[in-house]
Amino acid sequence: MKSELLQHAITQSLAVRNRSYSPYSQFKVGAALITKSGNIFVGTNVENGSYGATVCAERIALFSAVSAGEREFETLIVTADMDGKAVYPCGLCLQVFSEFAPQIPVVLVNASTGKIEKETTLDTLFPHQFSLNS
Ligand SMILES: [Zn+2]
Repeated sequence: MKSELLQHAITQSLAVRNRSYSPYSQFKVGAALITKSGNIFVGTNVENGSYGATVCAERIALFSAVSAGEREFETLIVTADMDGKAVYPCGLCLQVFSEFAPQIPVVLVNASTGKIEKETTLDTLFPHQFSLNS
């Protein structure tokens, strides 16, 4: 992948993180999803007083992309305040992404520095994915 596109997506994930609605956890997350066609879709976490209704940044980015007709994905960027350790997508997000991109590269960005903290893949984080097709 072009590093320009990756850097642009990182910048967008940092920006969207500032629009997080997280009055309960105060934990802001930004996500940017690069599609195979070279588009970038972003998401931020949106919490709710009925906690179970909260939706993570990663799924919002994915749902936005799918709503726009995208089905093939290149890279997922997740931006959070890492504070010395990487923040990974939650199990729900890993499962949802496994439906569309079971081996997608996942780039974890430290929101404080804007630097990449860790690069991994979905299947590394979530090796035993649930699928109705398996
Ligand atoms: Zn999640």
